[in-house]
This record gives sequence, C-alpha cells and structure tokens, in this order.
Amino acid sequence: MGNHIKRFILAPCVSRDAVMALAVRLREEQRRLTTLTFCSLEDKQPRLEHARLAKQVNARKVEVESALLPDVLVRAADAALGADNFLFREKDDESLAVCHPNALWLRNTFGVDGLEWLIDNFFEDHASWGSERFYALPGNPPSCDVTLPIHVNMLRPARPGEPRACPICGQVYVSKFPRAQCRNTDCHFGYMPFESAREAYRIVTAKVGNTGWGSCPRCRKSRTFTAFVEQCQKCGQVIEAANANFTVDMKDNRTAAYSLMEELQKQAG
Ligand SMILES: [Zn+2]
Ligand SMILES: [Zn+2]
Repeated sequence: MGNHIKRFILAPCVSRDAVMALAVRLREEQRRLTTLTFCSLEDKQPRLEHARLAKQVNARKVEVESALLPDVLVRAADAALGADNFLFREKDDESLAVCHPNALWLRNTFGVDGLEWLIDNFFEDHASWGSERFYALPGNPPSCDVTLPIHVNMLRPARPGEPRACPICGQVYVSKFPRAQCRNTDCHFGYMPFESAREAYRIVTAKVGNTGWGSCPRCRKSRTFTAFVEQCQKCGQVIEAANANFTVDMKDNRTAAYSLMEELQKQAG
C-alpha cells in the first residue's frame, strides 16, 4: 500500500478553519479516527515550477489517514468545506480509484492547466509543503481542540473482566486478560487499557533526544515527538518530553494537554 493516496485538494476559498471544522464533524459523527494533514505552500518559496504554480493559484491539499470510506469523507466535506470547493482523490495499488467530482474540477476551479500532478503525485514534492495536523478523535470532549493529538478513548480505564470499548473502532468486548485484541475482524487492534482513572489521566515524562526521538515509559514503543506532549499510539500513555531541546521545532501544547487531563480526572471523580 506504499502508493495509497487519500486526499482533498482545496479551492482557494476554503480556510484553515473550515478544515478544522471538517475534523470536528468527523469526530462528532464517526466512530473511527481520522488524521487530516493540512498542506500549504503559503510561507514557502518553492523552486520547482509545478510547485510555484500551485502556490501562485493558492492550491492546497489535505492528506487523510482514515479507515472511513470515500463517500463518508466526501459527505462530511460537502458539509464542512462546501460541495464545490474540493476534489477528493483516493487510489490504492489495487483497484480502488476515486476522483470526486472529476479531474476537470482543477481547471474549472483554478483557471489554469498544469496542476494534474496534485491528484497523483507525479512529482516527489513532499518536503516543500508546510503542514499542520488536525485529529478527529471520536470520544474526545467538544471542548478539546482538534490540534491536540490525545485520543481520550485510549484512556478509558477497564480492568480484566470489565467491558472495554475498542478505541479504534468502538466495538465493545470483554477479556479476562489485561492485554487483548478487538473482536471486530476488520480491526483487531490490540492494547492494554489502564486499570484506573488515576493511572490513565496522568502525564508521565520521558527523555527525548536531539532529533525528537523518544520512547514510551509504559510500553517502550519509540516515536518522534513533534509536540511537547504526545500520546503513545500503541498503549495510550500521555507523555511529556522532559528535556525538550529547543533547537528542535516542537509545538508547545502543554497548557491544552494538562487542561484536558484535568477535565477528564474531574469527570472520573
Ligand atoms: Zn476495534
Ligand atoms: Zn506506550
């Protein structure tokens, strides 16, 4: 699946806020998580001609990571971005190839030729885009900003023998063991829930290297930190980079992260 493409191309009238609204809508309406990476050339000085053209006409894109089906994503985008304001592309190495509404949308929207590369990655241009991520994490409270990569459903405590909801697909199941796999055959996500609210809603610190590389104190899985507070995607542990190196461009999300954890702790009583 190395060449799997799933993206929106945005008309110039679509704002960053509208992309955030799309993330909020997906969070409220769906049970599966989605990550939207909003890519813009606004502050960039692209050297290659194809990218300069995209910047000139203000063509931006949103890369999508999601298990949601194309028509679900398109319907949500119709509502959040406006029906004529985007092209949706999904393509895999096998037979899937969706282009909604169609490739002519590019010319009709931007009034130029030469942007077809945006649909299918004709050029390797990833490095030149500036990007920002929005997380549609079902189960997160409405007060939680979609820029915060903490998935609250990963933190719902459950002891062995108690029902647990899979944080990825929402399937509820019971296991005798602390670590178990989701019973949904399309999902099979395996994890070990925290046993108490106190354990779950606590932020632990970890050492992070100069390159932003660190590992989870709970399950040892390593990851790259792009923000001061991040969540382990394997076990759900919320981790703060203890010795954040300021030469690495890391987003300071500590205030939002700590206030979310406080809110959850209060709810848990
Ligand atoms: Zn699942
Ligand atoms: Zn972990």
